[in-house]
Amino acid sequence: MSSVAQRLAEVRARIEAASIAAGRDPHSVALVAVSKTKPAEAIRQAYAAGQRAFGESYAQELAQKAEELADLPDIEWHFIGHLQTNKAKYVARAAHVVHAVDTEPLAREFGRRVAMAGRPRLRALVEVKLSYEPTKHGARPEDLEDVLRAVEAEPSLLLAGLMTLPEDAAAEASQAFATLASLRLLHGGSARLPELSMGMTGDLELAIARGATMVRVGTAIFGAR
Ligand SMILES: *Cc1c(COP(=O)(O)O)cnc(C)c1O
Repeated sequence: MSSVAQRLAEVRARIEAASIAAGRDPHSVALVAVSKTKPAEAIRQAYAAGQRAFGESYAQELAQKAEELADLPDIEWHFIGHLQTNKAKYVARAAHVVHAVDTEPLAREFGRRVAMAGRPRLRALVEVKLSYEPTKHGARPEDLEDVLRAVEAEPSLLLAGLMTLPEDAAAEASQAFATLASLRLLHGGSARLPELSMGMTGDLELAIARGATMVRVGTAIFGAR
C-alpha cells in the first residue's frame, strides 16, 4: 500500500469513528481530499485507493491538474479557495463544486462563466466568515441571505450549502461549527442547504460532532505542505 493509500485509510477510519461517536451514519460525511500544492501523481495514488473528490485552492493550479488528470473520468474537483471575481472563469471550466462563494458579484460571475462554458450546473456553497482574522474570507452572517439568493438566481448554479474556515484554536473552531449549523437552520435547513463543509485535518472530529457533511482534509492524507 502506498503511503497516500495508508493515510487515506486512516482518515476514513477517523471519519467513521467520529460519526459513530456522534450517533451519525458514517456515509453522511463526504471526504474531500485537499491536494493543493501536491503533484498530480499523489492525486493518482489517492484515486487508485478509491478517492474521487479532490480540493484545490488556486485557480490556475486546479485548471492545470484537471487537464493533467483528464483521463480519470469520474474525478470530482472541489474549488475551496478564496477567489477574485476575475479568476472565476478558470474555476468555472473545471470545478464540479465550489465551496467559497462569498459575494453577490462572485455568484453572478460564476453563473455567467459556467453558462458560457456550457458545463453542467455547478454546485455552489456559500462561505461564511465566522472568524475575526482579517486573512479569513466569507460573507458576514448578516449578508448571508443576499448571497444565497444571488446563487439561487443563477440557472447554471445549484445552491448546495454552507462552508466555513475557522480559526485554528479548537474552542473557536467548535463555536464556529456550531454557528454554521445554526445559520443553516435559520436559512432554510437541510432542504435548502444540504451540505455543511467544515472540518480539516486538525478538527474534523469536532466538525462531524457539529453536523459536517463534507470535511476537507489535506495534511493527514498528503503530508505537510
Ligand atoms: C488547505 C485547506 C484545507 C486542508 O487543510 P489541512 O489542515 O491540510 O487538512 C481545508 N480547507 C481549506 C479551505 C483549505 O484551504
